[in-house]
Amino acid sequence: MAVGYPARASATLVGVSDELPSSLVGTGDTLTDAGRDALQAIISDPARTLITLDFDGTIAPIVADPEHAHADPDAVDALARLGDLVLGIVVITGRPARTAVRLGGFDRHAGLDRMVVLGQYGAERWDAHGDRFGAEPEPEAISEVEAELPGLLAGLGLSGARIEHKGRAIGVHTRELPDPGEAFDALRPALDDLARRHQLKLEPGKFVLEIRADGSDKGDAVRHIVAETGARQVIFIGDDLGDLPAFDAVRDLREHGTPGLLICSASHEEDALTIHADLVAAGPRGVAAWLGALADQLAAQ
Ligand SMILES: [Mg+2]
Repeated sequence: MAVGYPARASATLVGVSDELPSSLVGTGDTLTDAGRDALQAIISDPARTLITLDFDGTIAPIVADPEHAHADPDAVDALARLGDLVLGIVVITGRPARTAVRLGGFDRHAGLDRMVVLGQYGAERWDAHGDRFGAEPEPEAISEVEAELPGLLAGLGLSGARIEHKGRAIGVHTRELPDPGEAFDALRPALDDLARRHQLKLEPGKFVLEIRADGSDKGDAVRHIVAETGARQVIFIGDDLGDLPAFDAVRDLREHGTPGLLICSASHEEDALTIHADLVAAGPRGVAAWLGALADQLAAQ
């Protein structure tokens, strides 16, 4: 069930051993036991807590043109306040790292000077420290798929679908077509076949079908960054089916003794993750409020 957060939550200050603040657990019995344990550990030991989170639909509202999906300013402000309080903040996205940095304005915020953005499901990396970008080489099969796509779309009468070249992936968006759902369903088997023929895989999202190289997913990205940083607790926040591998990775970590908190950013058009989450926030505004409440709590301790 979704938790309705106020536009700007204020935390009730409590001792670590006391009941958790309502601004962080929602109203009612919405937090799982594993989530409650993780939240206690996070509040007790923020300096060894890693915050990992998706970008689109999680801290940036979904809009028709993905080039204009800017991050919610309150979410970025909250992350900047958390930047000095936690071990690290890592955005893990299917987008190119540079695009997420630009749309998030992450290179313009004091407090985010240790932030990391893992783009293309971990194939690209931006470190705020030193403003450094790195990337694995682009697979040749992606260019071959790009060459075939216009003909395939024309054959299905869907030439209006927006193609987004992401370097190591290609997204086909149906959101702007007259019937986005019908177009999505018509495209899915054709793009699945195209992906398989090029030894690539198809990843469905919100009115977007993405063809990308197999190998890395958000779960691998979470595992690597947790190992690299030596985090003792981890938070992951996501909204979409592409975030499921990250949810699985956090559950694995949890089973091996690393407390993990899974938060879903749910919306009216996407709630696939809600049953897997410890806590459900009402879209990017809810996520921004929750991050703000966590910053309030940690700053006041
Ligand atoms: Mg997303």
